[in-house]
Amino acid sequence: MIKKIFFTPGPSELYPTVPDHYQEALNQKIGSISHRSRQFQDIYKQTTENLRELLQLPASYKILFLSSATEIWERILQNCVEKESFHCVNGSFSKRFYEFSQEMRRHALKSEAPFGEGFYPEKISIPDSTEAICLTQNETSSGVSMSVEDINRIREKSSSSLIFVDSVSSLPYPEFDFSKINSTYFSVQKCFGLPAGLGIWLLDTSCIEKAEKLQQEGLSIGTYHSIPALLEKARNNQTPETPNVMAIYLLGKVTEDMLRTGIREIRKETTRKAEKIYAYLKSSKTFTPAVQEVRHRSFTTIVANTLVPAPEINKALEAFDMQVGTGYGSHKERQIRIANFPAHSEEQMDKLLKTLNELFG
Ligand SMILES: *Cc1c(COP(=O)(O)O)cnc(C)c1O
Repeated sequence: MIKKIFFTPGPSELYPTVPDHYQEALNQKIGSISHRSRQFQDIYKQTTENLRELLQLPASYKILFLSSATEIWERILQNCVEKESFHCVNGSFSKRFYEFSQEMRRHALKSEAPFGEGFYPEKISIPDSTEAICLTQNETSSGVSMSVEDINRIREKSSSSLIFVDSVSSLPYPEFDFSKINSTYFSVQKCFGLPAGLGIWLLDTSCIEKAEKLQQEGLSIGTYHSIPALLEKARNNQTPETPNVMAIYLLGKVTEDMLRTGIREIRKETTRKAEKIYAYLKSSKTFTPAVQEVRHRSFTTIVANTLVPAPEINKALEAFDMQVGTGYGSHKERQIRIANFPAHSEEQMDKLLKTLNELFG
């Protein structure tokens, strides 16, 4: 059995209860049940109720199951943008979403910050013609995050556009004011500690109304995964297609475990672990925090510049059954990324930092 702890930014370490939940799902033959059965509807209902409670999601928000966050990018553009979207781009994920808009022949606008830098809402100008403002709360490639306060400030600047927030590698950590945004989304292989293959889309009535409006105007908003098609089935605790039933089941179980710990405790522990990581990076001879501006530093995916090439770091960590993420894309060698997710216990994080300190100072 492999004992290695994955501090990679996603897929990452599984939530510690996942193997038991998997075994239980197999015992119950979850993989064979019909997605139109009462048993599935109960699983669906339980998972959405747990998520709603965990994230303190208002009743006006709907929860939809899709295949990935990448799919949700496309669905946002298809359903909620007829002509123009606006993107805050400061890394690979936010850039990719912007490119989707171009590929789909929308008028894609962007405000761009250099890799490793964040945004100052007062300096961003967004035209009134923009239908969707696309923000990335936690840019996993560079370790830059946008605070909830800054997101709310963008709302103040632009009351007429819908705001979509990519919180793929941060939820359930950020405590959003859901009345200041219109939608957020994530996939389960980051902070929820599950195998990949499920995207969760949270959206309010303005997004639904927008999709219906485009549809009524005779525009194509897609087929089985258009917002109206998803909602029609969601009302019955179902999905249009045969979904990843296993993942929906496991998400229900892991959110139940998280509720038992409590969201406040999860957030407190995440903050505590992140502070330890940054304290170590500050004192280290090999590593320095990659994000200079303290208020833009991510607490869930921490990126550090390294004097020792990242693959060598992982080679040395192998003997201790640990692995961190290498830098993203062209930063592969000179940066490491440390995931600080709810699945990573404080004890495991302490051990990682102690080991890095002993190996590299
Ligand atoms: C991982 C990630 C995505 C893509 O998620 P998929 O599940 O691969 O579609 C999008 N945005 C951010 C910020 C991510 O970290």
